[in-house]
Amino acid sequence: MLQLDSVAKQETILRRLKASGYKLTPQRREIIRVLSEAYEPQNAQQVHERVAERFPGMGMDTVYRNLRLLAALGVVSQINLLSKRGDLFKLGGDHHHHFVCLGCDKIVCLDGCPLDNDSFSGADENGFTIVSHSFQIYGYCAECSKSHAATPAAPALTLELAPTPVPRSEPGKKAGSI
Ligand SMILES: [Zn+2]
Ligand SMILES: [Zn+2]
Ligand SMILES: [Zn+2]
Repeated sequence: MLQLDSVAKQETILRRLKASGYKLTPQRREIIRVLSEAYEPQNAQQVHERVAERFPGMGMDTVYRNLRLLAALGVVSQINLLSKRGDLFKLGGDHHHHFVCLGCDKIVCLDGCPLDNDSFSGADENGFTIVSHSFQIYGYCAECSKSHAATPAAPALTLELAPTPVPRSEPGKKAGSI
């Protein structure tokens, strides 16, 4: 079942690449195969490790360039985590976006897309042809929300920026009274 699914996905993507005028090199096929067999989104380094098993001469930069191309064509989702792990890549399927947890890098697929290409009205006037778009929604997952709420907002920064404490006059008191 999984095998069939993965093969069908690969075929769809290879067809789209070809239709866009890109060559189906063995290296590109291998990157797509690796992504189709991954259970979760992979960063470029993880993809490179797997691809290098069959193509030892293939450098990290080539892998990354191809991943970016696939993302630009919209056949691969590039998910920016805003963390040290770097961008993650996963095979597309239907176009959709992701919720990304800023606390633990958890990724949740969101249904569909709130935008269509007509949403970007400035593109035509600038002579820009839209191929795809990509964005993430950032926030905190249920678990991280709990710990996030329990942590006071950036206390160190507040202390650093605050001038020496000035006694605050209370609303009921008149100015000047002690
Ligand atoms: Zn989280
Ligand atoms: Zn997804
Ligand atoms: Zn979208």
